[in-house]
Amino acid sequence: MNKAKRPAELAVRLGAYILKNRLKGRKRFPLVTMLEPLEMCNLACIGCGRIREYKPVLDKMMPVEEALAAVHEAGSPIVSIAGGEPTIHPRIHEIINQLVAERYFVYCCTNGLLLERMLKKIPPSNKNQQFKDAVLWENCLEVLKTDAVCLVSNDKAFYKSREYSQGLADELKQDIEKCPNEFKIFPRLADLLSEIKTGVQIEPEILIEAYMNQNSAQLEGMASKQSFIMEGEPRTTLEVFATENPLFLYFDFTIEFPCVDTSNEGRTDARIYASGEGKYNAEEKKIVELTTRGETLLHRLPDGTEKKLENIVIGVMTGVIGHRTVEHSVKRKL
Ligand code: SF4
Repeated sequence: MNKAKRPAELAVRLGAYILKNRLKGRKRFPLVTMLEPLEMCNLACIGCGRIREYKPVLDKMMPVEEALAAVHEAGSPIVSIAGGEPTIHPRIHEIINQLVAERYFVYCCTNGLLLERMLKKIPPSNKNQQFKDAVLWENCLEVLKTDAVCLVSNDKAFYKSREYSQGLADELKQDIEKCPNEFKIFPRLADLLSEIKTGVQIEPEILIEAYMNQNSAQLEGMASKQSFIMEGEPRTTLEVFATENPLFLYFDFTIEFPCVDTSNEGRTDARIYASGEGKYNAEEKKIVELTTRGETLLHRLPDGTEKKLENIVIGVMTGVIGHRTVEHSVKRKL
């Protein structure tokens, strides 16, 4: 078994407590308060003296006020809460929360069966991270038995010499040495994301098909009104963003549809740009939402002037309520 490391704050506070008592001339004083707020247990281990010898008081529970008063009277900075099984006590969270708030170092001796229920009522303390860290680390070790773990924490207690750049603390490294799965630690979520980023591809064909299913009539109408037909391979430009749901990606797109002039007026370089945004289900490789921002038809006149025609989508929130066509002339840049 690995040797547990005593937190520096505990060593300092314990040292100060011992010194204070010695200066007062006390020869004997408690280092640890053993608090047993009940004797009842939810297990019946063979050989357990507790549940046999304490039979007459198995139904008794110490009131919160009495438990706190006992800790205050003992005066030790360390409190070990045992039993019986302390997590059965219906107000155990009140006792622990109050002691943590008063900066006691609290150890809870439990068989763990009801630990989750109890922890829901014990928020992480900003005064003492020790209890939260221990639970978090135990959870990591449990998950590591079956899966890889990426822990994101800016709590310096997890890092060697309390430096993020040094990686996991040596004593914690020993815990995971024999784990069959990989463990990684990151101080910021951004560090994890840059480590695990993969080039998620939204296939251009999927985007073009989804767009055409929704907008082909609009697009073809725009081209034919100006005596063009859409011909050739469309090209896509995509920007993909992570969303709060790892399953879905948000994307912003532009599709360029090449066009050919059917008017014999010598117009060249015709293409329609369609742009919009959408949501992509990365697991099913399916576009689940697609909203268009409009289309722009560009072409060049024989004198080099670039003509631009726009279908602007008029929308309310996410609903499209109509299109408006605007025509511009853009002089070719020299
Ligand atoms: S968990 Fe502890 S207190 Fe409960 S029966 Fe087993 S040995 Fe006794």
